[in-house]
Amino acid sequence: MSITIDDLMAQIDKIDRRYDIDKIQRAYELADSAHEGQMRSSGEKYITHPLSVASILLDYHMDTDTICAALLHDVVEDTETSLEYIRKRFGEDVALMVDGVTKIGQVPLNTKEEQQAENIRKILMAMSKDIRVIIIKLADRLHNMRTLYARPPEKQRKTSLETMNFYAPIAHRLGMSDVKEEMESIAIHYLDPYGCQEIERLLNVHKEERDSFIDHITTRIRSRITDIKPEPIIEGRVKSIFSIYKKMYVKNKPFDEIYDIYAVRIIVHSVIECYNVLGIIHDLFSPMPYRFKDYIATPKPNRYQSLHTTVIGKEGIPFEVQIRTMEMHNTAQFGIAAHWKYKAGLKGSVAGEQRFDWIRQLLERQQEADDVEQITDAIKNDLSQDEVYVFSPKGDVFTLPNGACIIDFAYAIHTEVGNKMVGAKVGGRMVQFDYQIKTGDIIEIFTSSSPNAGPNRNWLNIAKTTEAKAKIRSWFKKERRDENIACGREELEREFKRNGIPTTPEVLEDTAKNAHFDTVDDLYAAVGYGGVMLSKIIQRIKSSQTRAQKEQAQTLPTGEEITAETNRRSRQKGIIIEGVDNCLIKFAQCCNPLPGDPIIGFVTRGFGVSIHKQDCINVINNMDSAENKDRWIKATWAGVENETYRANIDIIADQRSSVIADITSAIAVNHIPMHEINMHRLKNGNTNLFITIEIAGVDQLSNIMTRIKKIPGVISAERTGKQ
Ligand code: MN
Repeated sequence: MSITIDDLMAQIDKIDRRYDIDKIQRAYELADSAHEGQMRSSGEKYITHPLSVASILLDYHMDTDTICAALLHDVVEDTETSLEYIRKRFGEDVALMVDGVTKIGQVPLNTKEEQQAENIRKILMAMSKDIRVIIIKLADRLHNMRTLYARPPEKQRKTSLETMNFYAPIAHRLGMSDVKEEMESIAIHYLDPYGCQEIERLLNVHKEERDSFIDHITTRIRSRITDIKPEPIIEGRVKSIFSIYKKMYVKNKPFDEIYDIYAVRIIVHSVIECYNVLGIIHDLFSPMPYRFKDYIATPKPNRYQSLHTTVIGKEGIPFEVQIRTMEMHNTAQFGIAAHWKYKAGLKGSVAGEQRFDWIRQLLERQQEADDVEQITDAIKNDLSQDEVYVFSPKGDVFTLPNGACIIDFAYAIHTEVGNKMVGAKVGGRMVQFDYQIKTGDIIEIFTSSSPNAGPNRNWLNIAKTTEAKAKIRSWFKKERRDENIACGREELEREFKRNGIPTTPEVLEDTAKNAHFDTVDDLYAAVGYGGVMLSKIIQRIKSSQTRAQKEQAQTLPTGEEITAETNRRSRQKGIIIEGVDNCLIKFAQCCNPLPGDPIIGFVTRGFGVSIHKQDCINVINNMDSAENKDRWIKATWAGVENETYRANIDIIADQRSSVIADITSAIAVNHIPMHEINMHRLKNGNTNLFITIEIAGVDQLSNIMTRIKKIPGVISAERTGKQ
């Protein structure tokens, strides 16, 4: 039966709010005459469409101007009526809304990419002026979905796909879950009718058992929460076909393993009651691990709040329980539109509306983005992907966009946590910062109190969320780098001079590197803002000078402390660290492992993993120490065809004059590059040679060692850790 203006007026009558009936009547009359003679595919008069859209919006108690704009939303595009005329007769607000809806309607969602960027910009512009525009557009799309049966099959699929990819996610982001669910369930029936039939069949197989199961659990719950007055509302239901569809076909779960086919919703009166009821539920049924989510303490980005838990009863069938207050329930159903429905209206402007973070983010992006492509990407990321839900070790839930990494998570906890992060564990395992977090991950972030700790510029390329990127950028900005560099340089040069340390580029570069700065400027900057203590740096330089002197005095290599100095060459490709990919790897200087050596990794504080030989004295001594026990991780050599490694050989030879030439030519003949040769005359007249060579693996090394040992005059040849 077609809706008429009388039906609409009757609907308005029932709403306890003031409407400008005359204005709505005039809007209807203009729309009716403008669309005169036009028909819908269903055979109805065209005016039934704007009337239906207005009626959907009245369900949300939207205001007079929104209802007028809904009635007029197709007038400018489909008829001779001008926007100017609407502005004159209905005012600026109505005209802007009609214009916004028209523009969104013109966005060719499935066509050329470059055009899409520009058109999405238009949507943003329209939305930034008035959020009601998108709500009208969603109502428009919802009615078109409801009447899609009348369209040709190809149109049904195209429209359904658009709805699934674009409008349902927008409804979700606005928290309008009723609209979202209806859109999705209609769309999926056109997109995969057979898949849906299968689900309906499965749901119907034991329909009676299902109904009695739901009946049984709701009765049990009700009997236990009689203390709470007024009585909570308890609803049991089978979840939407589309949510089951997603799990079955997208996540490939067998029907029997979908936990949340059943859901029980309990609506109470206060937040405290929510937690009380949760306790009762967990007492009554066994909770499933990792299925509890506190969206009251940590609301979803669309402001959704509820407690979620999945429990199992005696029957062994899991079901989800959602506990919320009535206010939360309204927000869950109507999202942003709940403002109109329950708070007697609200101005349309986004500027005054702080609660809907994602809109603000979109608009911020729009200002930030240098080119339209970036906006398209940003929106695609936002709209086409779901969120992931992860936990802190304490069990706090965080919601992040799919694809987010450790960096995003750290910044979501707190800006300082992000800025001071030096490591992370997921499920007890060390991971890299670019590890893509997955729903259910329990993530532990390690921070450093060192003033040196701070984000890396590369994080900007790794982070996914606008929020994290903005925080990283602002950190760099705040450092007031140039100023820091200038005064840091002055201070450092003064102190170096006082301590007799030369300020040559080489010394400065080494100093920066040893203090773990990428560049000398970074070092200056850190000195400048007090991030490093110069006295410590100078102390380190002095002690390394002493060490170098000692080494020159032929101190034999001993099991030395693990140093944080990295080898100059980057060799991470040759190593596989269990449970970690692509992390910073360095080779411990105490034992210089070579490909083929049995090795083990040690997680350093903030500088990646250092690789030791398993028989290294430091490994043996530290393996079981309480402090370090957890930091050893499995490491193995990967296929290392094209990688080379440095090895040090310690040779003692007699006084024969050509022995050194014989040794070096043996090495050269084997095409083994030499990096360093040092020679010392020993007291007994023999010669001690230290040679650093570059080799491809232990096999090549043992071959060359055999060759060297056979050279007449060579007394001994050994591989050593350190020169
Ligand atoms: Mn329309």
